[in-house]
Amino acid sequence: MKLLEYEAKKILRDCQVATPDGVVVNTEDEPSLPRVLKVQVPIGGRGKAGGVIVVRTNDEYNAAFTKLQSVTVGGFTPSCIYAEELLEVERELYLSLVINRESSQIELVAHPDGGVDIESHTPDSFYRQSINGDNLDNIGQTVADYLNINPQAFIVTDMIEKLYRCFVKNDATLLEINPLVLTKSGELVAADCKLELDDAANFRHPEWDFEAKSRSANFVTLNNQGTVATIANGAGLAMATVDATKDTGLEPANFLDIGGGANEASVTRAFEEIMHYPNVAAIIINIFAGITKCDEVARAVIAAKKNIDALPALFIRLDGTNYEQAAQLLEDEQIAVLATLAECIAAAKKVATV
Ligand code: GDP
Ligand code: MN
Repeated sequence: MKLLEYEAKKILRDCQVATPDGVVVNTEDEPSLPRVLKVQVPIGGRGKAGGVIVVRTNDEYNAAFTKLQSVTVGGFTPSCIYAEELLEVERELYLSLVINRESSQIELVAHPDGGVDIESHTPDSFYRQSINGDNLDNIGQTVADYLNINPQAFIVTDMIEKLYRCFVKNDATLLEINPLVLTKSGELVAADCKLELDDAANFRHPEWDFEAKSRSANFVTLNNQGTVATIANGAGLAMATVDATKDTGLEPANFLDIGGGANEASVTRAFEEIMHYPNVAAIIINIFAGITKCDEVARAVIAAKKNIDALPALFIRLDGTNYEQAAQLLEDEQIAVLATLAECIAAAKKVATV
């Protein structure tokens, strides 16, 4: 689960990591100025996409707020806009913790030249060191030397310790601070934060209540720009649906296994998720109902048709438990049911670009 920046920073603050003050703003809010306004999307690259704007006056604030609402980053539209205290930036550094799956260790990664061009550095120019609770004492000095901020060695040690504890406590798989800002007054502040949490640890975090959590664990984005969305039940059928769609040259946006316990509410949520994709023109629904009941799926389809504006074209194949009721419900609403997945895909191809 990828958190939004404002959610991640709340966790950093809870772990005493130095973070700028910030607030999620709505249209009518007038936060104190100056500020940096940042669109909240579950992806980086906002700076380059025009999603980060410094504002110093009310007029600038209003203009930037309006502009940011229509910014998209990698196809994602903003969940909300975050207004943060403006920093006096001396240098931008890079610091992250990530799970190295080969060594099964938490790895600290650092680079003296952080910021929006981090991807331009060669992989071997990054400092990498496995860390654990026992080897944190000396690492701050080494990293401070590497980042060329020797006077801050003590602060770096303290920050690494806090980030490490934060990472472990929250079952993170990635905690990336880019940029870690060295301010003109010599402080280190986490100016941006990407935090990914391990969905498998959900059960031991009753406090997890994030925007991304509404998404079913079995819902996976394949291509945010994809033109065909899929809803299927059972991982095998869901994968086969995605593969068959892709094989015809169409671009599937997602994988979704609605699972055996699917009901009208969970299928309705799937439609809501799909509506976040900007380019989806067709939704293929492929259900072979065993525990799932076809009529529950049919009710969700009918509700989606009624309630969701600009719902993409639906191509439905269903069979199995309660098929007859489902067929009747859909027929009453003049919603077609196709006989095979191949027919659904052929029909989708007529409305979705390849
Ligand atoms: P990203 O592009 O999605 O990673 O968004 P960031 O939050 O990292 O912001 C992009 C860039 O905006 C940073 O690298 C900084 O150069 C700049 N930036 C962000 N916050 C501030 C700030 O408070 N003050 C100043 N001067 N620049 C900022
Ligand atoms: Mn960043």
